[in-house]
Amino acid sequence: MKNVRPIVIKIGETVVHPEALGRVLAEVGASETASSKFLGTHGTDGQTLIEFAGRICYESYEPGLNPNVTRIREDPADYFRNIVSRGDGSILEHSAVSFAICHVSRITTHELVRHRVGTAVSQESLRYVRPPEIRFWIPDELNPEQRKAMEKAVAAAEKAYRELEAQVPWEKMTMDQKKRLTSAIRRILPDGLATNLIWTANHRTLRWVIEMRTDPSAEVEIRMVFNQIAEICIRDYPYLYGDFVATDLPDGTKSYRPKLRSKV
Ligand SMILES: Cc1cc2nc3c(=O)[nH]c(=O)nc-3n(C[C@H](O)[C@H](O)[C@H](O)COP(=O)(O)OP(=O)(O)OC[C@H]3O[C@@H](n4cnc5c(N)ncnc54)[C@H](O)[C@@H]3O)c2cc1C
Repeated sequence: MKNVRPIVIKIGETVVHPEALGRVLAEVGASETASSKFLGTHGTDGQTLIEFAGRICYESYEPGLNPNVTRIREDPADYFRNIVSRGDGSILEHSAVSFAICHVSRITTHELVRHRVGTAVSQESLRYVRPPEIRFWIPDELNPEQRKAMEKAVAAAEKAYRELEAQVPWEKMTMDQKKRLTSAIRRILPDGLATNLIWTANHRTLRWVIEMRTDPSAEVEIRMVFNQIAEICIRDYPYLYGDFVATDLPDGTKSYRPKLRSKV
């Protein structure tokens, strides 16, 4: 058994191409000044795409482009505060972030996949993957004796697994036969077996799931995962997550709640 802890690594995100945004602005009739101002003051990450997409609704790239619009929110911080507090959540769906979530139990992945909307999941398949070692996170709240007892139980499961594995002539089998047997013998491995997945979610979903899964009533392991996701989002997308407030919880994790409520 190898002791591990859940780790989240951001591996991808939506980006925009400023040149292409410039072409769109020209097509919709925005002035050169408005175009260079927008492109000069915005980045290339998902926040820019969200604002750009949102502004097409009223053609609010500059006052007067739509004759009904005489004033616009110039500062992206004001723009985002307004759309999030109004609950214009649909434009947040334009941008997504991909995370590698490593060393999490099947308990956490089972909870994670309950969040269906705006997500994509690719999880290590234990029908195909025969774990060469049992990676396992032991919850910090266990005392030393309880930890020892848990380690013993995991070692016993691993021993039983290795004994079963040793009875199978893997080298003589087709991939399909290996898959069937790998799938059959995994059933004796513990629920806490650490696994890996890639999880992608759009920003509307992320705001919702961060709040849900860092709530004090959520399980500690998924809170550890969403603490890391919240920190990444607050660091990398300040307009979208600047209203999240962290509260320290007794077990060392934090709960994150938005000050501005968006409808989901
Ligand atoms: C602390 C905590 C404890 C939990 N305990 C349990 C438990 O004991 N047992 C259990 O089974 N589950 C439990 N859950 C899981 C929970 O019931 C939800 O399945 C999970 O949080 C996903 O929520 P969601 O439906 O909002 O997510 P998503 O599927 O991502 O949906 C997001 C939102 O989209 C809308 N939506 C999605 N699908 C539909 C639809 N078909 N029709 C209409 N609107 C839709 C809803 O507004 C929904 O809130 C728990 C969750 C948490 C956070």
